[in-house]
Amino acid sequence: MQQTSYISLGSNIGDKIENLNKSISEISKINGVDITNCSSLYITKPWGKTDQDDFINQVIEIKTDIKPLKLLYKFQNIEINMGRQRSIKWGPRIIDIDILLYGEQSIDSEELKVPHPLMLKRLFVLYPLWEIAPELILPNGTRIKEVLDRVLTREGGNSITKI
Ligand code: AMP
Repeated sequence: MQQTSYISLGSNIGDKIENLNKSISEISKINGVDITNCSSLYITKPWGKTDQDDFINQVIEIKTDIKPLKLLYKFQNIEINMGRQRSIKWGPRIIDIDILLYGEQSIDSEELKVPHPLMLKRLFVLYPLWEIAPELILPNGTRIKEVLDRVLTREGGNSITKI
């Protein structure tokens, strides 16, 4: 059965926009994945590890019947083929592809946690997600707009700029 899944993309090395476009092109080539919506691009301040270049972030909506872990492996292959090195936690990266939501499913395994555990704290995820899915209700029952407003009230909106 096809599920709707939301995917977060981010890059802060090289031609960041080109990297995002390339990753979307590669995702669109996966058999069993249809890209159904793409957010605008957002310039965002680095999160977690702040002494690095700004990121460009985007969220896309896909429909897929690929099981979540298999989907993660496909995304990791794209990351590796695009030259991503896995080294510093939250460090610079050519491309980062995270599964935010997968239908209504909650997954809590070693390799994959869905909803993505940090998505409710990250403006660079919440803002573009709200842009493409304004009516979305998160698995914990809260509306995306409610969560977004909470983070905006706490942090202000200075860390994110729509291109
Ligand atoms: P990152 O460096 O942020 O790309 O984190 C990659 C690691 O997070 C990998 O080892 C994944 O197995 C793990 N991971 C756990 N949950 C997720 C998720 N929802 N999406 C992507 N990676 C995840």
